[in-house]
Amino acid sequence: DAVVHWFRMDMRLGDNKALSIAAEKAKSKGMPLICIYILSPQDFRAHFTAPVRVDFLLRNLEVVQRDLAKLDIPLYMETIEKRKRIPARLIDLCKEWGAKHVYANMEYEVDELRRDATIVRECAAAGIAFDVLHDGCIVEPGMLTTNAGGQISVYSPWYRKWCKYIADHPDTLKEYLRPEQNPPEARQKYKALFDVPIPPVPEDRQLTDEEKERFHGLWPVGEDEAMARLNKFIKERIKVYHTNRNLPAGNHTSAISPHLTAGTLAARTCVRESLKAINKTVPTDDRENGSMKWIGEVAWRDFYRHVLCAWPYICMNVPFKPEYNNIEWEYNEEQFTAWKEGKTGYPIIDAAMRQVKHMAYMHNRVRMNTASFLAKHLMIDWRMGERYFMENLIDGDFASNNGGWGFCASCGVDPQPYFRIFNPLLQSEKFDESGEYIRKWVPELKDVKGKAIHDPYSRGAGAIASKNGYPKPIVNHKESRERCLARYKAGIGRA
Ligand code: FAD
Repeated sequence: DAVVHWFRMDMRLGDNKALSIAAEKAKSKGMPLICIYILSPQDFRAHFTAPVRVDFLLRNLEVVQRDLAKLDIPLYMETIEKRKRIPARLIDLCKEWGAKHVYANMEYEVDELRRDATIVRECAAAGIAFDVLHDGCIVEPGMLTTNAGGQISVYSPWYRKWCKYIADHPDTLKEYLRPEQNPPEARQKYKALFDVPIPPVPEDRQLTDEEKERFHGLWPVGEDEAMARLNKFIKERIKVYHTNRNLPAGNHTSAISPHLTAGTLAARTCVRESLKAINKTVPTDDRENGSMKWIGEVAWRDFYRHVLCAWPYICMNVPFKPEYNNIEWEYNEEQFTAWKEGKTGYPIIDAAMRQVKHMAYMHNRVRMNTASFLAKHLMIDWRMGERYFMENLIDGDFASNNGGWGFCASCGVDPQPYFRIFNPLLQSEKFDESGEYIRKWVPELKDVKGKAIHDPYSRGAGAIASKNGYPKPIVNHKESRERCLARYKAGIGRA
């Protein structure tokens, strides 16, 4: 007899709702807790999961296994090729272990919800209770509605309600207890489950040795590391976050997104800890306060998940605004490759695209610029960019990525009109004024002085740029802007 916790995107022991409740249940019944992780290569393929993200996950799994073993809790791991087989296999394992209770934290994407609905049904038929809990969001989806009871599709009013909800429900930020030591007989009884190896990386998700070394150096794993990162950010940088957050050079943001995606850290923990540091218990809409501004950004993650739950069709390659489906897109492979490789001739765009290649991460401001450039300057179907980001980001998260692309291509929830088109040159001058970010990522331009860094060919640095093989702009800003406006107008008109 045992209670089971199924790990998914919640790779931590601390402040983990389902794990904590499963552990309590086990303790109250005097049963051991068994943990399980199921690796599904088919899901990686279906969701374009980046190899670097798979690697991060597996490295975290190792830490989780080690930390659980210290508590005599086994972590059973298995690769299941066909995801359809997951429910039956889970039930078989529960029968083998005599487990009548399974807990997990909810994943909100359509495939995952369908899988869980099947498991709830099939478990019930087998006499097993399967409880899926809300842990991935701070405020549960569906709780913040318009007066008419619908999902709020605009962030600002939604955020004010989010703050009020937390004020009215202080338990929202409660910390869930870590599991306690398993009963002493557990180790003997489930001996074989303690020595299960970490599942091998699927063939199509392998990193090269060079990539492994680079990414392991850049992104250490584990919940202790995530907490240390959070605490350092709170101590050193959060105070000025509201003024510096848009500057891609330097370390002005938390770089905690890989941990929030893998679940090595809970978003709830981020909000609670950052409030605690300023002796507050409730977030407010104060944009001039670094901590509150940061919490507001963490809330964007909740926002996009709420949107996903309310309008699940966005999981099906359809824009939130369906009338934007009629826009005529380009499928120019050469330009798409130039964008991916950071060779568009727009230094700020190229710097950002090279940052993602090197780090599997990109600063938010330039995520917006590169996404807008692909969709609006190159008129390339934004879904190709959305997919490329998923395939390459260590923090790739469907809801946030889709939300970000929707925002930039103007077909998402945000009320920004499509005719607001980022000018990459002005963005570059404003947010990378000294050119530090560009010089870091585009070595061909590192000797370019002054303002020429933003647009070398038209500002007298063409000789250096061309000598070093830096390309000329692949499109003209003014012409691209006009083409974009005409295409969007015509597309929406056809709806
Ligand atoms: P900080 O500024 O320190 O913010 C803290 C946390 O708040 C982040 O880790 C993140 O979890 C959340 N957050 C901040 N901004 C946003 C936002 N705009 N939307 C949603 N959550 C936010 N974020 C992802 O986690 N995964 C993605 O796949 C992803 N794709 C994006 C694609 C595009 C086109 C755009 C414009 C944004 C995308 N974002 C994505 C949001 C944002 O860029 C990153 O969360 C952020 O850059 C991560 O860096 P950080 O941890 O230093 O952020």
